Amino acid sequence: MTVSVRFAPSPTGRLHIGNIRTAVLNWLFARRNGGSFMLRLDDTDLSRSTAAFANAIREDLTWLGLVWDREARQSDRLARYEEVAKALKHAGRLYACFETEDELERRRARQRTRGLPPIYDRAALKLTAAEVQQRLAAGEKPHWRFFLQNTEPSRGLAPQPTLVTWHDVVRGEQTVDIGSLSDPVLIRADGTPLYTFTSVIDDVDFAISHIIRGEDHVTNSAVQIQLFEALGAEPPKFAHHSLLIGADGHALSKRAGDLSIKGLRDDGLEPLAVLCHAALLGTSEAVAPYTSLDELAQRLDLSKVSRAPGRFDIAELRALNAKLLHMLPHEAVAGHLATLGLQVSAELWEAVRGNITTLGEVRTWLEVVNGPLTPRIEDAKLCATAAGLLPPEPWNAETWGAWTTAVRDATGIKGRALFHPLRLALTAREAGPELRALLPLIGRSRAEARLNGRPA
Ligand code: GLU
Repeated sequence: MTVSVRFAPSPTGRLHIGNIRTAVLNWLFARRNGGSFMLRLDDTDLSRSTAAFANAIREDLTWLGLVWDREARQSDRLARYEEVAKALKHAGRLYACFETEDELERRRARQRTRGLPPIYDRAALKLTAAEVQQRLAAGEKPHWRFFLQNTEPSRGLAPQPTLVTWHDVVRGEQTVDIGSLSDPVLIRADGTPLYTFTSVIDDVDFAISHIIRGEDHVTNSAVQIQLFEALGAEPPKFAHHSLLIGADGHALSKRAGDLSIKGLRDDGLEPLAVLCHAALLGTSEAVAPYTSLDELAQRLDLSKVSRAPGRFDIAELRALNAKLLHMLPHEAVAGHLATLGLQVSAELWEAVRGNITTLGEVRTWLEVVNGPLTPRIEDAKLCATAAGLLPPEPWNAETWGAWTTAVRDATGIKGRALFHPLRLALTAREAGPELRALLPLIGRSRAEARLNGRPA
């Protein structure tokens, strides 16, 4: 089977970490199976979709490295949806309804007071073809509902259970009683087709083999399976992954502004850390850094995605980011550092990568190395003596040990009383990377000036 998957965001907001879980699980699945990954923009809701959000989605995916093999935009395919709608109307699976929202709400309220589920009663089916024609001719604008097969809810009678089942790649055997659902509206009164409908047509036309999406779509899937069948198509395989939830226990939503990919990027987080976190939370694999998407793809398959939600915690993502940075070689970060305007040598990177949480923090250590920096002098006498004992250059990783031994022998000061004042004078900071690595980068003239209390 040719594996073909899609990520189908609506361009009505910025992508956030929850959307990215879906995107990366699709991408990894395609990669593991030699398949293709499609970006589909679900933009039939013209009032909320914008070109700017579509561009932002492309930009975020590109930054993450989730390259897509092909792209489609639903707003380009309206004629195709109309054609399919026509066929379904002809087959009697799509029927015109003229109720107003108020009317429907009143009916639902009545059903509730009678202890019945608020399911659409299919009153519109009682209209004769002639009546429908007459109302259409009079300019009335109906919305169109999909007739779910084998459910016969009629007023006053409880609906019969009608089970739709499938084997879900993540959740195993799934059963949804569509007898408990209203016939879904597929086309609004203004003529715009709805996602439930357009998604299925696209999945058929683009030969999607697997639909990998959040478990909030499980009920949709039951309805869509009937739609696939109505279109004479075999439904793809479904995989509904668990959602990410925030600290409040609720699913992350688009309103979680600071968890937007843009926000995380502006925070200086690495794309790979974001992807590892989004993919591995709520799976049986440990949330650990991987230095490439291919490595992650080899590790994670859908069978490891658990049914329990993944709890997202920004502090954990930052810790993962730090772990990832500690592992990355200079060549893997040089480009990103350059985009931040940071010229960082391999030696400096080696020295500092264990002491940063985000790449931007390298700036601090670049300043420590290049100056100018105002030293903090805690023990002026000790520092002046130490300055006098600085050996001539060239310096290397052994210089620090040899020099501090000489200072200890000359002053009798050792341990923290020796190292703390030297670190404060040389870096103006209480803590940081090992000085054996930093000292050669600071160099003799700056070290001497700082130990003598002069900014350098
Ligand atoms: N546009 C839909 C969403 O963002 C796509 C769902 C799907 O993958 O079918 O929820």
